[in-house]
Amino acid sequence: MPELPEVETIRLALEPHVVGRTFEQVDISDPRLVRPFEPLAVAAELEGERVAALERRGKYLIVRFESGRALLIHLRMTGSLRHAARGTLGDDPYRRAVVNLDDGTDVAYRDVRRFGTWHLLEPGELDDYLDRRLGGEPLARTFTAKRLDEALANRRAPLKAALLDQRTVAGLGNIYVDEALWRAQLHPLREAGSLDSDEVQQLTKAIREALRAGLARQGASLRDYSRPDGRRGRAQEGFRVYGLEGEPCTRCGTPIDKIRVGGRGTWYCPACQVQTTNRSASRPS
Ligand SMILES: [Zn+2]
Repeated sequence: MPELPEVETIRLALEPHVVGRTFEQVDISDPRLVRPFEPLAVAAELEGERVAALERRGKYLIVRFESGRALLIHLRMTGSLRHAARGTLGDDPYRRAVVNLDDGTDVAYRDVRRFGTWHLLEPGELDDYLDRRLGGEPLARTFTAKRLDEALANRRAPLKAALLDQRTVAGLGNIYVDEALWRAQLHPLREAGSLDSDEVQQLTKAIREALRAGLARQGASLRDYSRPDGRRGRAQEGFRVYGLEGEPCTRCGTPIDKIRVGGRGTWYCPACQVQTTNRSASRPS
């Protein structure tokens, strides 16, 4: 499913096409996208809105309008956005909404599994809405080891589960948590609150590096994700552990193992990522 690198890739690609444009006509064909609101009512509210900025927070794409309202798009499992000249996108049984822009182009929303959401917020509602749901933004300067340490402190949950919680760090999902833990050489089942300050430092750096690696290759196209021009991302070609069960670890050659953590498939190197590190085992109690 799209995580921070995929959503940011979409944002970067769409930004020059939508900022300054007006939503001329909006067609929402799937009521699930905007429930509990009526698709026709939401479409009518969106028509005439002019885009001031396209932003991202965690895995949310934020269309800020000049009116002060904001459309919050969450792609969930299989959502994606396409941008093209009007009439050039072929039929698609999974298309759930189309926005006609005032320059003769369209933004089409596609979603196979239909878990994605479009949520229109009134002026002043956005910050509170996001702050209640999301922790720090991992690629921002404000994301420091100290902040991550505070978010993990006293937590008994496995490290992987704590990092999947969007209130710990915003934007991580199953892929980039596994990739970050491999980079930090931390076991996914380590108790989240048990990391020492060096390990938190390592993890902070590893989260950034894993996300930047994904972003540099324009996101991971495993199944449904594609960029707004329809092309695929190549982040999957740079994965170190995700989906690589049985492949040799690029750091030590040990075959990558797969386990389940909190019901999620989890890949890690059993030699590089041991559950209790030598360092913490040898620390004086
Ligand atoms: Zn290894």
